[in-house]
Amino acid sequence: MRFKSRSGGTVSFREALFQGLAPDGSLYLPVERPDLSGLIRGFDDSTGFTELAAKTAAAIFSPELSPADADTVSRRAFTFSPALRRLDESILLLELFHGPSCAFKDFAAQFLAACMERFLSGETRRVRILVATSGDTGSAVAQAFHGKKNIDVVVLYPSGRVSELQEKQLTTLGGNVHAVEIQGSFDDCQSLVKQAFGDAALKESLGLTSANSINIGRLLPQAFYYIWAMTRRTALGGAANRGADTVPMICVPSGNFGNLTAGVYAWHWGLPVPGFIAATNINDIVPQYLKSGIYSPRSSERTLSNAMDVGNPSNFERLLSIFSGDWNAMRAMIRGISATDGETRQAMREVWDRFGAFVDPHTAVGYKAARDWLGAQGAGGKTRQVIVLSTAHPAKFQDIVRDAVGKEPEIPERLARCLSLPKKAEKLGSRFTEFSGFLREIFT
Ligand SMILES: *Cc1c(COP(=O)(O)O)cnc(C)c1O
Repeated sequence: MRFKSRSGGTVSFREALFQGLAPDGSLYLPVERPDLSGLIRGFDDSTGFTELAAKTAAAIFSPELSPADADTVSRRAFTFSPALRRLDESILLLELFHGPSCAFKDFAAQFLAACMERFLSGETRRVRILVATSGDTGSAVAQAFHGKKNIDVVVLYPSGRVSELQEKQLTTLGGNVHAVEIQGSFDDCQSLVKQAFGDAALKESLGLTSANSINIGRLLPQAFYYIWAMTRRTALGGAANRGADTVPMICVPSGNFGNLTAGVYAWHWGLPVPGFIAATNINDIVPQYLKSGIYSPRSSERTLSNAMDVGNPSNFERLLSIFSGDWNAMRAMIRGISATDGETRQAMREVWDRFGAFVDPHTAVGYKAARDWLGAQGAGGKTRQVIVLSTAHPAKFQDIVRDAVGKEPEIPERLARCLSLPKKAEKLGSRFTEFSGFLREIFT
């Protein structure tokens, strides 16, 4: 697979991976359209997630990931698996929070880290990943790179603006993970990272690279769990009176639209999916676009599902390119539905009351959208099943869940453990000279 940037040149998977953003500032897009349909038909309930990921990765990223390399990388990355949980006849949750940081971002971050480590083995260079986080991305990335050979990670987060749990997840790993607490906002953190990449001498001498969600190596691995979910025949076909042609819709709680874009690539490359639901909070730029054909980004508003508070989704351009920019083609495949905070709380309560299950606020937005869509289908609709991607463990959002439901989910062991460890972070101001001085000091 080769990737192209706006200015036209194509690069290898390896280069796209280490570049992140193309030198002309644009996003890398896949050049080819691999046909995965034969491969996918060969998967069933007996295909474990790691095996499925390895075979799919080999098919997508050939020739740079040989089947043997894809196997090594997948085994190293995926020591956890998704789970499909049936709520009722109509709605299933695809639980993607069984990884180390308890959110779906673990899948892609783990795969990216394992790929980079594989590509760097046998080389003498070292790379340094810089990542700015408002909470969840940082912990998935930090966990994924922790202990990887020839790689250091620097995670910048805004002081006092992340939850205690999120801060502990970032600051208790140690080793090759350096947490930097910035006296400023998330935008200040992002600006420091941008300035570092813009400083050619610094970038070159320290081998700086990025791991944010626009990196193709973090985008495409998300396709694996869509394929996994759609090939669990027993879980999907278990309901009575359902023909083989009634394949479920997939509903994706979305912010930057990386997750949904990966699912749409899986469909574009041969996964049989009747359609997707793009579920957002009131930052509904994409649902509005689907309705009106007008894309108008705006500044984001704060909501309960804060990982989806995005006013100008950076993967929209990629999503549109899959449909060659054709609004009608995109509308035929993707339905947009948004939820207010009130509706999000109501959905958390409903899932508890009806099924005795906790969902986090992001998953709740997806649940609400799925119910709306099912309701609009009425009795005549052929597709009556929706898989909702469950993007985070409810215990990561204890306060919000407790507020809505009146009870709180138990904290998994891997989260509880970091709460008891001491925080270790470097405190810095938001001036670039301070940050660049710090980088030079620890890495030279
Ligand atoms: C990042 C995130 C999302 C949004 O995913 P995108 O790929 O940015 O659309 C949804 N839920 C949770 C819990 C997240 O952390």
